[in-house]
Formats: sequence, C-alpha cells, structure tokens
Amino acid sequence: MLDAKKIQKVVVLGTGGTIAGTAASASDHTGYTAGQLGVQHLLEAIPGLNGVLQGDALVCEQVAQLDSKDMDHATWQALAQRCAHWLAQPDVGGIVITHGTDTLEETAWFLQQVLETPKPVVLTCSMRPATALTPDGPQNLLDAMAVVRDPMARGVLAVCAGRIHSAHGVQKVHPYRLDAFSSGDAGSRGWVEQGRVRWADPGSWPMVHVHAKSALSLPASDWPWVAVLHSHAGADARQVNALVAAGVKGLVVAGTGNGTVHQNLLTALAQAQAQGVAVRLTTRCAEGQLVGQPAALQMAPRGLNAYKARVSLMLDLMG
Ligand code: ASP
Repeated sequence: MLDAKKIQKVVVLGTGGTIAGTAASASDHTGYTAGQLGVQHLLEAIPGLNGVLQGDALVCEQVAQLDSKDMDHATWQALAQRCAHWLAQPDVGGIVITHGTDTLEETAWFLQQVLETPKPVVLTCSMRPATALTPDGPQNLLDAMAVVRDPMARGVLAVCAGRIHSAHGVQKVHPYRLDAFSSGDAGSRGWVEQGRVRWADPGSWPMVHVHAKSALSLPASDWPWVAVLHSHAGADARQVNALVAAGVKGLVVAGTGNGTVHQNLLTALAQAQAQGVAVRLTTRCAEGQLVGQPAALQMAPRGLNAYKARVSLMLDLMG
C-alpha cells in the first residue's frame, strides 16, 4: 500500500480514445474522430488539476493515438512495457492511462495480468469528445488523479462517471450514456465524490495472482491467435472449421445462458480440441457468471466475459 504523502510523480500515458477526440460541432457526440489531441493537451485543459496533485510532479507520455476499437497486441505490449518501466521507478506512485471506452475492459484485464506491482494503474476515458459543449473527459481524468494518489488504490482500476471499477469486473454496457460501465454483480470498487475517494468494502476485493510476463517480451506478432465465437440460433459448424483451418490456436465460446452451446457447434469444437485447439467456455449473458459445471467444454476463469477470457487464454497459451 502506498502513502499518498510520499508520492512524488504521477505518470499519465495517453493512448487516444474519445477523451482525445474532436468533432466539427460542439453538439456532435457521435460524429467525431477519436484520438486527435495529445495527452499533454488534455491535462492542460483541466482547471484545478494542480490542486488535486498537491505538489506532486506530473510526467506524461503519448504511447499511442488510436480509437480503441482498433486496439492491437503491439500497442498493448508497448503500453505494458511503459507501465513496467515507470512502475519500477521508486518515485512514481502510480499511472493514469487515457483510453477509449470500446476496449478499455480488455486493456485493463491484460495489464492486470502482466504487471506485477502493488502500485495503482488507473484507466480513464470519456463518452463525449473533448470538443463537446460539456465534455466528460476532464472530470474523469481529474477523478482518476484522485484515485491514483489514494493510499488504498492498488492494481489495475478503471474510473468513469464517478465510479471506480476493478479490471476483473469492468464492462462497457452502454453505447452512449456517460455512465457507460458496470461491474455487474461485483459492484463498483468505489466512488469519487467532490475529489474524494470513497471505497467499497475492501474485504470483498478478490486478489488477482495471474502474471504472464512473457507478453512484455515475446513479439506481438508471435502471440497465439485466439478468437471469440458466440453460440446463437442458427449457429453453423463451418465457423469453427474455418477458424481451425486458418490456424487458430484458441477459441473462447460465449455460450447461451448458463454455458449451453448449439449442437451444431459442439461436434466441431470437440474436433478442434482433438486437433490441439484450446477451447474455453463462458456465457454471452451480460450479467452473472457460469454456475456449476455446465458443459463438457472447459470453462474460462469464472466471471470473465468472452473478451477478457480471450486475453486470459492467449496469455495462458504464451506460458
Ligand atoms: N471508439 C471510441 C474508443 O474506444 C469510443 C470511446 O472512447 O468512447 O476509442
């Protein structure tokens, strides 16, 4: 646990997203281009930032500048490497990452598994571009600063619309509203109110012990190909067969309900497994997690959605 008084540096890493996006009109919340403004610019636009920092130094770095719908493994690796670099500096108390909302939960889960540090890494974002009449990015960034400096903060967290989420629980659940994220059954890790952090019961925070440091060094082009497929009415085995023929190494199946899978897929999935493809099962339900041992397929770590289960399986396959 970190003592806020000893923190000397907060590092802010920019990756793009709507928080750095611009539109031609202040009333346009959807027809904008993500990843246009540098992270330095975003910080300079926040009134009251120095008050929150209370004398701590700010270091910022632009690691990427993209719309997070286009996030890729090479960017993840570069981001993880920069995080590892800064977290190893004794005078760095924690890291804030500005990120698009679309794949924020995947990046959060990836970083949670590859970074081994007690220091906090806080992802934040916005739903409206920086040019909006009332953008939400500056407040989210300010809240993330309050969280990263809080002595209770640890691990990878996400901050949006005044709520703090764990990397494990966070999921984008709404395409438009400002409070676009939910932690589902787990609930928020805490809240930021008037610059003050209020934590939920720390006794309920699960410890995450998975560390797959090979992702920091193995070239991203060599990372195993793991795909997500969904079971649905009219599902067709050709989807599985095509992926296997193309060389997929792992498949995460988002099953219906409590992990049921369309009969048309099951035989093809069994054949895929027999050919050495790793198959993991999760649910396509937006809430809850698989209960019991619902299918013959091996389950993904409980409580992960299909996209985070994909990250976990890929890291597992990397050893
Ligand atoms: N497409 C954007 C992104 O994820 C959406 C956002 O940031 O809200 O980068």
